[in-house]
Order: sequence, then C-alpha cells, then structure tokens
Amino acid sequence: MGKRHLVVISVDALVYEDIADTRELPLFAELIRGGSLIKNVRTVYPSLTHTVHASIITGQPAGVTGIVSNTVFTPGSADMPWYNDLSQIKCETIFDLAHAAGAVTAACRWPVTANAGDKIDFLIPELMDKDLENAGGDVIRGYLNIGMTECLKGIMERAISPSHTMSHVEHPEYDEIQIDCACEIIRRYKPDLLLTHPGYVDSERHRTGLFSPYVAASVKKSEEWIGRLIQAAKDAGIYADTDFVILSDHGHLPYSKIVRLNKLFADEGLISIDDVGHVTGWEAYAHSSDLSAQIYVSRPEDAELTGRVTELLHRWRDEGNAGIGEVMTACETDRAYGLKGDFSFVIEAAEGYHFSDEWQGEAIYAEPPAAPGLGHSAHGHRPEKGPQPVFIGFGPDFEKGKVTDGGSVLEYFAMFRRILNI
Ligand SMILES: [Zn+2]
Repeated sequence: MGKRHLVVISVDALVYEDIADTRELPLFAELIRGGSLIKNVRTVYPSLTHTVHASIITGQPAGVTGIVSNTVFTPGSADMPWYNDLSQIKCETIFDLAHAAGAVTAACRWPVTANAGDKIDFLIPELMDKDLENAGGDVIRGYLNIGMTECLKGIMERAISPSHTMSHVEHPEYDEIQIDCACEIIRRYKPDLLLTHPGYVDSERHRTGLFSPYVAASVKKSEEWIGRLIQAAKDAGIYADTDFVILSDHGHLPYSKIVRLNKLFADEGLISIDDVGHVTGWEAYAHSSDLSAQIYVSRPEDAELTGRVTELLHRWRDEGNAGIGEVMTACETDRAYGLKGDFSFVIEAAEGYHFSDEWQGEAIYAEPPAAPGLGHSAHGHRPEKGPQPVFIGFGPDFEKGKVTDGGSVLEYFAMFRRILNI
C-alpha cells in the first residue's frame, strides 16, 4: 500500500445551506478554504440512508447494489428488518478492493457493513434496536453478535462507560460513542481507510424540520466531531498523509401529513386482514421509502391485476387526495435512476406528504410538530428535489479553495480508489 490514508465522514443529511454561512463554523470555514468544495451533489433514488451509503461504497445505483430501501420488503410486518449486513450488497464494494489490495480498513457505524467477516479489519457496525433487544440490552454483546471486531471490545467498553450511557441507539449519544471509537481506531491502528457516519443532523431534521435552530446546533456538534477525527490523525502521526472527505447522503423535504397506502389497498380488497389485524394475504402492497414508495404486485405477470393497480394509482394521483405526486413504472425508474427490484411501480409523494408501511387506522393523518414553531422533514424523494448534499475534500490530494457546482455520490467510489491507489 501507498502511504495515503483516507478518513471519510458522512454527516447524514448535511446540505450546502447548512455551511453556506461559516461565521459560527470556523472549522468548516478552514476546511472549505484549505480544500475542495462541491455544492449540489446529486444522490441516488430513493434518497434513503442505507441505499445511498451502499451506493457510495460501490459506485452503483440501488438497482445494482440491491439495497433498494432502508428495510427489506416484508409484507405484513409492522417493523420490517433493516438492510444491515455487508453481504446484502450484491456488487463489489470498496472493502472488497481494499482488502484484496492489502489495505487496512475500518468502519464505524457505516450503514450495511455488519457481519463483514475479514472484509473490514476494524468494524463497529450499526447497532439496531432489535440487535440490542436480541442481546438482552447488553450493548457489547449486541455489537459482537453483528460482527464487531473482537479486539475493539475494549475501545467500545471505554466509549460507552463514563459520560454517555444514556442511550446507545439515540442521537447524539450514539454519535459520540462512534466518534470516540473511530478516533481511538485511528490512533491505535492507523487504518488506510476509515469510514464513519454521524447521524445527528439527520435526526434533528426529522424531529424539528428542515432548517430549525436544533438542526443548526447539530451541524455545530458535527463540526466538533470532525475536529476530533482530525486531531486523532495528528495524534497518530499520519495527518500529513491523510485525506479527509466530508460528504452527505441526501437532503430533506418538509412534510406534515402521513399516508397509509396499505390501508388504501386494504379498502380496495387488495390486502386481506383478519379479526386481530394481521395481514393474511395481499395482491398489491406498498413498501414505504418515506417520501416515495415501491409498490409490489403479487402476480406481476397477471395483466388484469397489474392493470387494476395501475388504474388505482393513477386515479388516486389524479384525485389528489392520497398524497401521491407521481406514478412511475419500475422500467421508468430503472431508466432514469438505475432503480429496479421486484416491485412494479414507484410512487413519489406529493408536496407535504410522507408514506408509511401501516395498513390500519386513518388512511391519511396529520403529524403534529414536536413543539409550536417546529415542523418535520424526511427524505426518500427523487434526488433532484430540494436542498442537495455537499462534499468537502481536505488533504494532500485536494486542491485548495476549489469550488465546483454539481457532482454525484456515484463518483465517490472512483475517488476513494484513486486516493488509496487501489
Ligand atoms: Zn441519511
């Protein structure tokens, strides 16, 4: 391996508008001045965290990675399992290439990296509520069960013990733990490649709206974490040979109403539900990607059924009362975005609407804000809409003061390969 190190920090849902005014963000100002900035980086469809992170480490859209949503389509489940294992990605990842080239790799809470085996040398996977539950609330056991590297046990124990034991799956405590671990991995093991993913900005956006004071505070906090990672590279003596990449996965759009598409399908007799509310059968079923949804048809080759679902979706869109903005066939989304799967249609939410997987209750309801003056926002929408992700590259391979408008998250894979010389 060459002497270059690469630290990738994905600040979930960071957009250019967050750092356009750097008066309160001196480190961001310094990184932008001393590095390269890309505004308006186009993401993939659906613009969901796990989908985009799989695309970033492969250079491929969702139809190729197979990570077509955050969760695995499981009709009848009120809580569909998340895509979390590296093996669920159907194409070559940066970890495959780096491992084959003999590079030392590390990932801290990078989505879809669990149970990576020897593909990732130092791994702290993303711990889901269910993983913690399955381990009886034992955090260390939970992490080890999903493939945390054995030798990181001590680092994790130290990170979760003293100051932030409040929650291991909530922000910002979760991020604090992950950044502590990432810094310690850099100091001890000096990996060639380390990827980490603080999610606080995204979580505050969901909770309080697109540009609330809480979001601004989470951007400030994320800046502090970036500073700690840079300091760790200095402590490790690798700073001069390290490139830092700060990127994000998607923007957000505001919404205030939630649509239970599967309730609408159930009302049309396309989903059957028993007396206790369980799904007993389905012919059409919506899998929510929050601001879009993938519509599955049980017998896609059945022209009558597919025709009926097509007609329904178009009618709902035209009537304007089901929160549907656009109806696309899977062929159309494949051509436009490289998004394909076992679903037949993709629908995009109308402005202000958010889709859910639920099949019971009111078909459409308003979600009240967390407090007066606040709102909600989410993502999963078509990538060209709304505020866009941003990129900052800082280090020996990045030109100082360069500002570019336009790029794609699919270009990062080749960039990482160039930097690592693999
Ligand atoms: Zn995200």
